[in-house]
Amino acid sequence: MKILVLNCGSSSIKYQLFDIDKKIVMAKGIVEKIGLEESILKNNRNDGDKVLVTEEIPNHTIGIEKILNLLIDKDHGSLKSFDEINAVGHRVVHGAEKFNSSVLITDEVVKKMKECIDLAPLHNPPNLKGIAAIKEILPNIPQVGVFDTAFHQTMPDYAYMYAIPFELYEKYSIRRYGFHGTSHRYVSQRACEILNLDFKKQKIITCHLGNGASIAAVKNGKSVDTSMGLTPVEGLMMGTRTGDLDLGVMFYLMNKENLDVKAANALVNKKSGVLGISGISSDMREVEEAEVKGNKRAKLALSMYNYRVKKYIGAYAAAMGGVDVIVFTGGIGENSPETREEICKGFEFLGLDFDSNVNKGIRGKEMVISKPESKVIAIVVPTDEELVIAQDTFEIISK
Ligand code: ADP
Repeated sequence: MKILVLNCGSSSIKYQLFDIDKKIVMAKGIVEKIGLEESILKNNRNDGDKVLVTEEIPNHTIGIEKILNLLIDKDHGSLKSFDEINAVGHRVVHGAEKFNSSVLITDEVVKKMKECIDLAPLHNPPNLKGIAAIKEILPNIPQVGVFDTAFHQTMPDYAYMYAIPFELYEKYSIRRYGFHGTSHRYVSQRACEILNLDFKKQKIITCHLGNGASIAAVKNGKSVDTSMGLTPVEGLMMGTRTGDLDLGVMFYLMNKENLDVKAANALVNKKSGVLGISGISSDMREVEEAEVKGNKRAKLALSMYNYRVKKYIGAYAAAMGGVDVIVFTGGIGENSPETREEICKGFEFLGLDFDSNVNKGIRGKEMVISKPESKVIAIVVPTDEELVIAQDTFEIISK
């Protein structure tokens, strides 16, 4: 069975073609700069064949058409014909309270997804464009939606509510939803598989530290809290986002700097976080390099970043009445031993005996980074959201 996974962003489409029976990725790639003058299509086949095409790709439908044609190309393709594709799985950012698991996409589902656009105006429309494009090009193929928010739908009300007038929650569905749910679900389950633990009986804290970053408390197999909220700006400090911020700061700055809503939004989402503090970059590698050279603001940015994660781990251990496993994932969580060490330092009181020596050498692979006698296990698990989307799609269409 072959499943195509699509992650449609506003100007890009990432894709992976899975052979579920052989458990391999046959090809993967990306279309970038959709709608701009020179769009790019890159395809990597699993035998090492690489293609890079530069041409005009004005919209998502044409982008997907190009991807599909490349997948059946006689020189660079992986398939003989489209008939070999059994289903398409889509990453969908916001499922609001309407979706608590992955679903087969029907007209009714598309209608409900459109009702979620208000809550994710930048993300859900391109996801829907991808769904519409497949329907147009391959009308008979089943499509499945996998939502970033779904895994966190198990949060209790006292964790997801904001302390605003209740009527506003009722009127606009304003509450905390959380994101990266597919990643938190995958790495928490995978950690238990690796460690041979019963997922349904563990208290797990998953730290997804990438450009966007969030942390989740997963108790007995369910997400009970997570750091992102109605939008992905809440919680941890991120590449360019503030994370938690006193709202008073916003009012003060809007007033002093004459910011309208759009400018205020750009400030907290695009100009803040690691970039805003360091003044160097949102990319952790560059900031780490600057810190080594003695840059004080880089050092401050990293200290703030790590401290915020540490505080959330403490909070979630309190929320769950303890913690058994701490998982690190995302570009930074998987690849930055320094970040992991700084976060885990001083957690002896929680029962974590961190193994600095093992941790130092670990980049991008599954590995336990606590000592064998440690009560709390710390582990690196590279995330694989596309695999989860492919597996969910397979399960749903096999029913
Ligand atoms: P996204 O949220 O865009 O998917 P990723 O999960 O790919 O982001 O994470 C990107 C972040 O990971 C960047 O800040 C990057 O600097 C960081 N990163 C990648 N490799 C390393 C590394 N070797 N050391 C430190 N940080 C790294």
